[in-house]
Amino acid sequence: MQHEKALVVFSGGQDSTTCLFWAKQQFSHVEAVTFAYGQRHDAEIEVAKEIAAELDVPHHILDLSLLGQLTSNALTRHDLDIDSKSSELPNTFVDGRNHLFLSFAAVMAKQLGMHHIVTGVCETDFSGYPDCRDQFIKSLNVTLNLAMDYPFVIDTPLMWLDKKETWALADELGAFDYVKERTLTCYNGVIGSGCGECPACKLRQNGLTAYEEVRV
Ligand code: ZN
Repeated sequence: MQHEKALVVFSGGQDSTTCLFWAKQQFSHVEAVTFAYGQRHDAEIEVAKEIAAELDVPHHILDLSLLGQLTSNALTRHDLDIDSKSSELPNTFVDGRNHLFLSFAAVMAKQLGMHHIVTGVCETDFSGYPDCRDQFIKSLNVTLNLAMDYPFVIDTPLMWLDKKETWALADELGAFDYVKERTLTCYNGVIGSGCGECPACKLRQNGLTAYEEVRV
């Protein structure tokens, strides 16, 4: 795949930053796209910008703030704890969000003359998002190819890794310290090791601790 180009769906978090390093190793040219959809913290977009600049990756920011309109409609849904700070779902969670992101990424990738779309979705630590599952990604890949009559390949390097193995992959890519110190996973907007209290921080720290125990 060395002569190929790839577009990475990039949030500035641990997973997508690891994917960005992976893509830079796999492909001759890599660009990144970040979706602005009313994230809880503007910091997320700023971190994504900084990382892309530091890694010398052309970076696109696409405005999907319309997702906020769908979230408002979700106020009537009682299964979503929209306002709680401790909610595991971001307050802008929308069903099928990943589906939408990948579809927009595909339109952009085709315009950029790219066949590969890289995403950090993962089925192992199943997050409750059905559009992160391998079966969905394979289905969408076929659908996008038919929709645009274009041979896309959706790459999911983290699909079968647990959080510990994702740290191991970052380490293999020579990016362990960078991912540990520079990425933003925390729901409270704290870069690196984070606030330590929110579900995202706990998940990240558990994986990191497990990996550091076996790291030589
Ligand atoms: Zn946190």
